[in-house]
Amino acid sequence: MSEHVEHVVIVGSGPAGWSAAIYAARAELKPLVYEGNAGLGTVPLGQLATTTEVENYAGFPSGELHQFLHSAIDEEQKSYLLPPVDEQPHAVTGPELMNLMRQQARNFGARVITDEISEVDLSQRPFRLKPAEGDEILSHAIIIATGASAKYLGMPSEEKYKNRGVSACAVCDGALPRFRNKPLVVVGGGDSAVEEGTFLTKYASVVHLLMRRDVFRASKIMQERALSNPKIKIHYFTEIDEVLGDEKAGVTGVQVVNNQTGEKHVLEAGGLFLAIGHTPNTGFLKGQVKTNDKGYLQWTTPFRTYTSVEGVFAAGDVADDYYRQAITSAGTGCMAALDAERYLASKGI
Ligand code: NDP
Repeated sequence: MSEHVEHVVIVGSGPAGWSAAIYAARAELKPLVYEGNAGLGTVPLGQLATTTEVENYAGFPSGELHQFLHSAIDEEQKSYLLPPVDEQPHAVTGPELMNLMRQQARNFGARVITDEISEVDLSQRPFRLKPAEGDEILSHAIIIATGASAKYLGMPSEEKYKNRGVSACAVCDGALPRFRNKPLVVVGGGDSAVEEGTFLTKYASVVHLLMRRDVFRASKIMQERALSNPKIKIHYFTEIDEVLGDEKAGVTGVQVVNNQTGEKHVLEAGGLFLAIGHTPNTGFLKGQVKTNDKGYLQWTTPFRTYTSVEGVFAAGDVADDYYRQAITSAGTGCMAALDAERYLASKGI
């Protein structure tokens, strides 16, 4: 008896994965989505699931949606353009947006498995995929949409206090009681560092922003935001030497070093937030798909989601070290599904 072969398997469940699933399902490819499993360490619904409100996804204006529509729509059009509202809606949140996308994909017939793909064999056709928990599956095409994960500094003292004061997601963890009214430390000089630092000023007594250079990577508008916030104190040429803490309290401070003078001193802090960029989630591919010099999957043709392996497509942050937005991820997810559909048709599958 011949083994069942899927048309297309989608690995990942952020905006890229779900958009790919919606398009693939509507093309009747019956996509199978591996959405990850929090218990195994992957984040189902992607990084957006760890944010609060999403203000820059087109079609979801921030603020109070009903009020916005009332102010934006001409009086004579209101009766047929405005939906009836039973309750006061709010701006869409990251988890809501992702669940809506997931549901939309399921409505069109995408099958969703809460497991992660831990290994693939792309050397033979159909491709073989090994889930962490389920049985091996075969597929004619694969869309990789596994996103990227936050980077850490990689020091033992940082590892020791992870989830006990060390975090790489201010928006997820910042509101926890342990961080209230205490000095907090943020590392990084990019847009994320400024965004997270600004967010933390809501809770912290002061936010120390540590930058290894005296130049921001953040955009001008974000730099201004950091420089003009009285609760953000910027330390240039400053790196973490060691995370300090104790068993009971978790993080109590950081020892920092000035990388120009070698001078060290201690900053008292109730928390340390890393905002030093991301690493694409490609480990399970074990080098079988070509990456760029930063480790992101490489598109081999401009404006196509083709990878170095024919029949394997890449979408979202796993292949994007530049834009990294929910909406660009969704766009490339759509592209990957269309590319997969055309690839399968060209093979008569
Ligand atoms: P970036 O790569 O832009 O910035 C990373 C920052 O971390 C840099 O300042 C870098 O320093 C620093 N850094 C990296 N490694 C270390 C290390 N080991 N020790 C100390 N510092 C380190 O990443 P972001 O996550 O900030 O942004 C990624 C993308 O997302 C960007 O395109 C950004 O524009 C976008 N974004 C946009 C937002 C918005 O518009 N609201 C919000 C958040 C992100 P150095 O400069 O010295 O290399």
